[in-house]
Amino acid sequence: MNILISNDDGIHARGLRVLADALSSLGEVWVVAPDRERSASSHALTLNRPLRVTKVAPTWFTVDGTPTDCVALALMGMIKQKFDLVASGINIGGNMGDDVTYSGTVSAAFEATLLGYPAFALSVVAQRRVNFTAAGRVAVMVAELITQHGLPRNTMLNVNVPNCRPSAIKGVAITQQGRRRYGDIIVRKVDPRGKAYYWIGGKEPTWEPSEESDYAAVTAGSISITPLHIDLTNSRAVKELQRWKFPWNHIPSTAGRRHVTA
Ligand code: MN
Repeated sequence: MNILISNDDGIHARGLRVLADALSSLGEVWVVAPDRERSASSHALTLNRPLRVTKVAPTWFTVDGTPTDCVALALMGMIKQKFDLVASGINIGGNMGDDVTYSGTVSAAFEATLLGYPAFALSVVAQRRVNFTAAGRVAVMVAELITQHGLPRNTMLNVNVPNCRPSAIKGVAITQQGRRRYGDIIVRKVDPRGKAYYWIGGKEPTWEPSEESDYAAVTAGSISITPLHIDLTNSRAVKELQRWKFPWNHIPSTAGRRHVTA
């Protein structure tokens, strides 16, 4: 089995090494990861400049781009190797609830899913004093189960592991994406040259209570596994919007302005 690994914490991240070590028990591991930390880079693809690739070990490569760039390059021909599975992580910090839309870790797995490969993202829910031991074992368990069962169409697994020793983990919960209550704050300061700058800071997130959520599972000491797909359509809202009357013929014309893209 050939396994491709990427992450958004960058090539030097400890979690990447733990993931590679763990999955090497199942097959040959190839690593294509950003050359620096690209957390919160979301599903960004670099189109406005060339990408440079550096081989740092026989099956290890860095790219001066995003996690999505790494996976796209690896799966679309940069590596002459057929992959059976793609794994992203192990991220420092949980990727739960609405935060999955910002996540480079989750997006790397999404990119693989879009290209037709089974994939999962793996994160430890802690910012410091991170214990990767449990997550390494979870990686092997999830990889084996995906190989055994296959994944539902267009679906990846978003796995979040509590930050504790393996024996303290309560179990595995199949969960839903939770809802975060945002406590982000903008800090305004002045630089040494008198110019203002802003820094997006975050307080510890709070969460809307829901027993089925990823956050609830991890808080209860369980591994959270959420099946995600990239279709963001709100199916219930489609029905509601279909009841709206759109007065297309009554939209006032904007004289002289033409909405045509080059
Ligand atoms: Mn990260």
